Parts: sequence; C-alpha cells; structure tokens
Amino acid sequence: MKVLLIGPPGAGKGTQAHKLGKEFDLPHLSAGQLLREAIEAETEAGKRARPYIDNGQLVPEEIVVKIMSREMFDRPGRDGFIADGFPRNIDQYEQLNRELDKRDEKIDVAIQLDLDEEDIVERLSGRMTCSECGRNYHVEFYPPETEGVCDACGGSLYERNDDNLKTIKQRLNVYRNESVPVIKELEKDGILERVDASGRIDEVFEKACEVIESRFHARAGNHD
Ligand code: AMP
Repeated sequence: MKVLLIGPPGAGKGTQAHKLGKEFDLPHLSAGQLLREAIEAETEAGKRARPYIDNGQLVPEEIVVKIMSREMFDRPGRDGFIADGFPRNIDQYEQLNRELDKRDEKIDVAIQLDLDEEDIVERLSGRMTCSECGRNYHVEFYPPETEGVCDACGGSLYERNDDNLKTIKQRLNVYRNESVPVIKELEKDGILERVDASGRIDEVFEKACEVIESRFHARAGNHD
C-alpha cells in the first residue's frame, strides 16, 4: 500500500504518519526528517539542504527527490510506505509519477490533513521534537511525561530552528504557492481524501484510518 500524507506545516503529518505506519505495518518516510538526519550526519546533501530548511524554503529537487526515491523504491523488500511531506510541488509530483510508471506502480491514496492558519501557528509555536527519533510533542497540548525527554526513546527534545514565527509564515507561503497546486492534481487523479486535522491526535488518527480502510481491508493493529 502506498500512501501520501500532505498538508500545511503543523497539521500533524509526522505524528499521524508515525501512528499510521504502525497501524498498517508500513514504513514512515518523512522527507523533512530524512533531510534533518542528513544535516545531523553532515553529508553533502545535508550541508546543501540546511540553509533552505532554516529559511522555510523547499530544498532543491535533486536533493529531496533522490533521498525519497531511494527510500521509496530502492530498499530491498519494500513494497509500500507512508510518505510524509512529499511531493511538495508539481515538479516533485511529476518525478514521483515517472518513477512509479517505470515500475508499473501507483499511489493508492493521498490524505490531505486540513488545518486553518491560526491553529497552525499555535501548534508550531511550542512544538518540541525528539533529537533521536523525530517524534513531536507540544509544551501545552501534548507534553512528554518527563519535561525535555521523549516518551518513546528517551532522546532529548529540542525546538526546531524553523519553528519560529518568521519561518512559519514563510513555510505557509510555500505551502500555498507550491503545495496547494499538487493537491489539485491529486484530486484530478482521483486519489485525494481530505481529513480535518483540527481535533485531538486520536480523533484525527481514527478518521485517517477510516479513509485508508475504506480503500483497503488490512489493519495490522500495532500500537505504541
Ligand atoms: P517538515 O519536517 O515536513 O516540516 O519539513 C521541514 C523542511 O524540510 C521544509 O520546510 C523544507 O525546507 C524541507 N522539506 C521537507 N520536505 C520537502 C520536500 N518534499 N521538498 C523540498 N523540501 C522539503
């Protein structure tokens, strides 16, 4: 099963993709997280990507498409995924479709997490991310059990460089100008499903599960 999860920054893509991956036994491929890992590892790709991420801009195509294609198609035994934050512009969507066509494969469903701008800003200011596993928390809405420590892996939590008001605004602009046109294409291609992301994590998760289940009947049911 190949699932895309798209939506504005702060809509909960990472959180939901992680939970859906467990539920449906699929790897969670986060474009942003893979880029942050490349930065952390100080690879060439990471060094080039860093200023774009820090400024809230899209990382150049050749970097992100290469990283995501490798994870989606080149790992032995991999025949499905939940891709989070990819594709983010029309060019990436076209490149993804070319890779799929070559293999005679297709995306089964693209879930758009919908959230209005006020909620986005509220969620992103106050977000804390695990430096080890990339899991997200929120100081007010979803705090960890122990302050500054990830519940899942014990890693230390930090505030992402790009979760400040100026960069959040820039990321929203990029979303409106570059990613919304992709959503229109996904709709034309008949694979788009919308999920209201304004509720609690578990409510949004249930809705996303229903969307996937309405297309498939395979729920692994793994939980944290
Ligand atoms: P995210 O973790 O999804 O919030 O992404 C964080 C940042 O990583 C974005 O603001 C971009 O700078 C970069 N990024 C993530 N996904 C992509 C993508 N598909 N194309 C280009 N840049 C991306």
